[in-house]
Amino acid sequence: MPAIEKLEANITSDVFRSQKSTSELWRIEPLKARISRLIKIQEWTKNHRKSIQDAIYKDFRKPSAEVDLSEIYLVLSEIKHALKNIRQWAKPKKAESNLALLGTKSYLHFEPKGVCLIISPWNFPFNLTVGPLISALAAGNTAILKPSELTPNCSEVIARMVAEIFDPSEVAVFNGGKEVAENLLQLPFDHIFFTGSPAVGKIVMQQASQHLTPVTLELGGKSPAVIDRTADLTDAAEKLVWGKFINGGQTCIAPDYLLVEETVEEALLDNLRRVIDQFFDPEGHGIETSPSYARIIGTKHFDRLDSMLTDALEMGAEIECGGIVNKADNYFAPTVLSKVPLTARIMKEEIFGPILPIITYHDISEVIELINSKPKPLALYIFSGSSVFQNKILQETSSGSVAVNDCVIQFMNPNLPFGGINHSGFGKSHGHSGFLAFSNQKSVLKQKIGLTSVKPLFPPYTSLTKKAIDFLLKYL
Ligand code: NAD
Repeated sequence: MPAIEKLEANITSDVFRSQKSTSELWRIEPLKARISRLIKIQEWTKNHRKSIQDAIYKDFRKPSAEVDLSEIYLVLSEIKHALKNIRQWAKPKKAESNLALLGTKSYLHFEPKGVCLIISPWNFPFNLTVGPLISALAAGNTAILKPSELTPNCSEVIARMVAEIFDPSEVAVFNGGKEVAENLLQLPFDHIFFTGSPAVGKIVMQQASQHLTPVTLELGGKSPAVIDRTADLTDAAEKLVWGKFINGGQTCIAPDYLLVEETVEEALLDNLRRVIDQFFDPEGHGIETSPSYARIIGTKHFDRLDSMLTDALEMGAEIECGGIVNKADNYFAPTVLSKVPLTARIMKEEIFGPILPIITYHDISEVIELINSKPKPLALYIFSGSSVFQNKILQETSSGSVAVNDCVIQFMNPNLPFGGINHSGFGKSHGHSGFLAFSNQKSVLKQKIGLTSVKPLFPPYTSLTKKAIDFLLKYL
């Protein structure tokens, strides 16, 4: 191991060891200590709104209104929800006993897991790092954070916030790229919460298996939106354009592609074109000058999107709007494609950018077959006025979440567990689910000294014991 990496490995394991000691103290402290930590993050976030906006603007020109909505609002809402419910969540929950255990008391005790690792992506850099931290702290854990190297300005703000509120033996930030994450993954954490791509998710799970560390994997994939002839196309177009093109299209639950009933394709396209102009080019100066439209995070992702678009066009797809790019500025126009072959790369890989392919269908069975032929998506959207149509898709497909006649906003309800299934991840986050992800639900049974309802079942197995067993089985 080169000297510098060895030094970093030493620092991470020193911090890890110090957090291990803290986590033992934090197990027995009163709940108000956890509450005060959450309040400190709440106050810091409110007081540093401008620094957070500026940092993310520098990272990928994310408009400040989008930072407010999709980073600051969501973090503050997660804290408010945790503060309101933490006493209820942390209270031991009574469990019913059965006949065989008559006289005993059973309950669930929620204990902190211990020292947790949170690895986060760049696309919602503040929200997806601080959001899981809130759940980890609400559940009484210490944490090490590894934000993304692709948003250095926001990662620096997070490091500053943590340094101002916590000692590294409580919460610590290690900024840097994959080597830093690889180093951290050697340590025996009590829980790993990873948000990122399915490819890196597999590596994280493999590394976690060394220590049998439980993982929450919040991954990505291709989230479809289905639009049938009973949908309100004006309403659907507004919601789809917002959900697809906020954050420059770089949203894990953005509609990845549209499945549109063939009779309404033209009308939907007219609406999409109109709404894109209305949102991002109301004065006709060109979307590139719009202060409401973010940039692609960097050259690597820009090139990936550009080559995906070229591949689709070479295979017969047609540009319905957009298609304009400026590599020097990482600008990629909101782009809608029709006549997209299912064999094009754009229909096989997660797009994670502002390109929206449209696939038409004739019959609902084609929709279900196509969705079920792909890995289970993180989200699925249905735009339809028909409850029969909505229910058929709900029942016959599988996905992490579903929104009907809307998109993306399911993420904003802290009462809805958020997460994927199989390839789009597993384990749930937000609100109570986030608290549970970072808690060990310890099962506790209390018996009185000298008593046990199973005494008649102890060996030796006489005819009386067998009668007692027969009696027990009779009640099943
Ligand atoms: P990524 O997987 O490339 O990186 C995520 C994090 O993992 C970063 O901090 C990175 O430094 C780290 N990392 C990279 N290589 C690693 C390795 N070999 N070992 C350990 N850690 C490593 O993802 P990204 O490009 O930052 O984000 C985009 C992906 O994240 C998309 O697939 C998107 O759908 C997904 N995503 C999912 C959610 C969700 O909530 N489910 C939210 C946002 C993004």
